[in-house]
Amino acid sequence: MEALHKKIREEGIVLSDQVLKVDAFLNHQIDPYLMKQIGDEFARLFKDAGVTKIVTIEASGIAPAVMTGLNLGVPVIFARKHQSLTLTENLLTASVYSFTKQTESTVAISPRHLQATDRVLVIDDFLANGKASQALISIIKQAGAEVAGLGIVIEKSFQGGRAELDAQGYRVESLARVKSLAGGKVTFID
Ligand code: 5GP
Repeated sequence: MEALHKKIREEGIVLSDQVLKVDAFLNHQIDPYLMKQIGDEFARLFKDAGVTKIVTIEASGIAPAVMTGLNLGVPVIFARKHQSLTLTENLLTASVYSFTKQTESTVAISPRHLQATDRVLVIDDFLANGKASQALISIIKQAGAEVAGLGIVIEKSFQGGRAELDAQGYRVESLARVKSLAGGKVTFID
């Protein structure tokens, strides 16, 4: 997606060979127009996939997920990272190792929002080693629902997450595929 590539080239900051900082438009400050374009693109890609719900993870997945949900006309659920007093029922949970924080945490979704009849599109901001995506897939499966595919804003293709999802047979659509961050330079596939 050219608008996203341009934004990453112009405003992304390469923090190391492994980490790209995009807090100017995705992870802290949000560019609403870019989010709309991202939502339009995911909706175009998955319009025939029978999606009934979108699942993402707080906080940075929410903006692209909501824009996609608006376009596809389906609800958006975000997995919560912190236990809330208002989440009292038996939760669907999965443990996820955070690539950026290097800590293990539990993410949770209320079973009230996911049914066995749902076909779920997973949306996330980044795909690195795939831990966040795998945790969301586990929660969707616990609900007995089906995974319709995964929509990733920025995939770091040099890490293992994409290959693992491919091997498991999931459809993965990434709007920017980063081949390398070596030498402080972002190189894309395509
Ligand atoms: P994974 O679970 O696939 O290893 O990592 C994905 C999660 O880690 C994303 O939800 C994102 O929050 C975070 N993440 C992974 N790599 C990066 C990165 O290079 N930059 C930023 N800003 N976040 C990342």
